[in-house]
Amino acid sequence: MRILISGASVAGPVLAYWLTRHGFSVTVVERAPTLRKTGGHAVDLFRPAMNISEKMGVLPRVEERATGTKRMTVYREGSRRPIRVDLSKIFSATSDRHVEIMRDDLSEIYYDATRDDVEYIFGDSITAISPDGEVRFENAAPRRFDLVVGADGLHSNVRRLLFGDESRFSAFIGAYLGVLTLPNTSGLDGELLMHVGVGRTAGMYGARHLGDARALFLFRSEHELDYHHHDVPRQKELLRGAFDGMHPDVDHWLDELDHTPAFYFDSIIQLRMDTWSRGRVTLVGDAGYCPGPAVGGSTTLAVVGAYVLAGELARADGDHERAFPAYERTMAEQIRGSRAAALSAAKTLIPTSRLGVSGLAQGARLLSALPAGPSRALLRLTTKSARLYNSMTVDDYPPSPAASGNPAGLASDPGGGLGSGLEAE
Ligand SMILES: Cc1cc2nc3c(=O)[nH]c(=O)nc-3n(C[C@H](O)[C@H](O)[C@H](O)COP(=O)(O)OP(=O)(O)OC[C@H]3O[C@@H](n4cnc5c(N)ncnc54)[C@H](O)[C@@H]3O)c2cc1C
Repeated sequence: MRILISGASVAGPVLAYWLTRHGFSVTVVERAPTLRKTGGHAVDLFRPAMNISEKMGVLPRVEERATGTKRMTVYREGSRRPIRVDLSKIFSATSDRHVEIMRDDLSEIYYDATRDDVEYIFGDSITAISPDGEVRFENAAPRRFDLVVGADGLHSNVRRLLFGDESRFSAFIGAYLGVLTLPNTSGLDGELLMHVGVGRTAGMYGARHLGDARALFLFRSEHELDYHHHDVPRQKELLRGAFDGMHPDVDHWLDELDHTPAFYFDSIIQLRMDTWSRGRVTLVGDAGYCPGPAVGGSTTLAVVGAYVLAGELARADGDHERAFPAYERTMAEQIRGSRAAALSAAKTLIPTSRLGVSGLAQGARLLSALPAGPSRALLRLTTKSARLYNSMTVDDYPPSPAASGNPAGLASDPGGGLGSGLEAE
């Protein structure tokens, strides 16, 4: 049985890994010309995703590449006295298993675990998926697949082909996010430097193995801002405007906007779909249920979703009519929880009042000063994310011993139909 996955970041390679372990034959198409190795941004792997990485045998590499952010210095806007926070204590209180890692490092690790068993096509993109199972690409010749999975992120191409315009499913949560790469002139290693004000938060972090640093900007806006997706100068102007006069550190980071090799700017949106499968096509990770970049545990959700989808397909012997609804049912509660946790995290990370600014800084200091036991208890009471990730359980889907890279008794569907409802472009 041949399965095509669109997207080779986190969800795509994890799904590819487990599908091949369950005996399916997998092709991954990735729009980028090569696997990106620019570092990207830091993402979190919480306990369930750590457990899945362990089952994949890649946990030692994941831990070796951890950013190692252990300390945080917080400046509240208007106050010159910094608050120093022991982040490692907060991390260990939040979850008994947690790693922060650069997204591109994580993606490379998962890719390496699959490259020998999976066909990867870089520099291409799906243009149409027809009901008879034929998939068309920008560059490659058309091919037939039994199933197609969109693992192509928040602005998913497969979702657009399948369900239409993104705006039908996206909810703006009243905030924007900017990230840029800049020289690590402050020599930050294992440290996050943060400036927090009402409606705006800026931070910079570095890690020894990165060679450079990242500055992250989060700010509130009641209304959606007027700019075009491709208008980078306008996006930079909006970012400068939002952080005007905050602090000389932040001014210095913003000066780098003119030279940065990597810049990211987007509204923080949450995807809210009631169902994300149609016919023989489904979605995984941010493509199907992103709770919001930088405010939720969306990477953990992507890893868990990929593992569950592969497992349900194996359980149903490749019958997508049973597997996709089971996958959606299994993920539904965790997705709902992630959405709520992301909204709550956004409130904490980008405070709406001076009280919120003090609360964030003092709360972090208090938590880092307490011994692990009480701080864990306090976090359980106060943060939705901690409750969610500590309680997230994932079924075990052991690969059948017979499945070793070859379809385990899963006959290819000669019709290869992808079901109706797909609009070819
Ligand atoms: C700035 C920022 C900060 C973040 N911070 C955190 C954090 O602190 N913690 C956390 O847990 N998560 C964070 N996230 C979210 C995290 O990056 C994602 O949740 C995670 O990477 C989801 O993985 P994914 O594989 O579903 O999608 P993505 O990582 O978005 O990958 C999608 C892949 O699909 C490819 N693609 C796109 N279009 C096509 C196409 N047409 N054809 C083929 N391939 C295509 C892309 O090139 C990419 O490789 C952050 C995100 C951003 C943007």
